[in-house]
Amino acid sequence: MNILPRFVVDVMLGSLSRWLRLFGFDTLYRNSFTDRELIKISIHEDRILLTKDNALAKSKLLKKVLLIQSEDIKEQIIEVLSMLPKSFDLLNLKPRCPVCNGEVENTIKEKINGQIPDYVLFSQKDFMICKSCGKIYWHGTHKDKIDKIKKEILKSLK
Ligand SMILES: [Zn+2]
Repeated sequence: MNILPRFVVDVMLGSLSRWLRLFGFDTLYRNSFTDRELIKISIHEDRILLTKDNALAKSKLLKKVLLIQSEDIKEQIIEVLSMLPKSFDLLNLKPRCPVCNGEVENTIKEKINGQIPDYVLFSQKDFMICKSCGKIYWHGTHKDKIDKIKKEILKSLK
């Protein structure tokens, strides 16, 4: 089995980083990363650097880098995903927390009682929690919307 690539993303690509996490990719992003830090992280942690900065992309120190061309978020996601091996089941990877890149795991109502609005607790049954920041996610219209966008994107890959 192929190992999922990991990314580090420059300051201009915040939305792209959230989407890659939603797809399930381990993606580092901070709006304060300097070019030096980005290069260092890419090399030391073996992460593909995604950047909109032409000069940075040409750095001879970098082994793994992709210069993102488009301004459009969907196009940007397609640029990244189309360089990956076709063997990944991109629709069904386990998503990561879009806020902090943490791993999310299933949780049960009893554990999160009091942390989310009652109407959500009563109307939903599947919950997930981020192991790092504790943010709680549930399957609802939001997930349906995300899945729809994912499918659209994956269709245009073929
Ligand atoms: Zn989190």
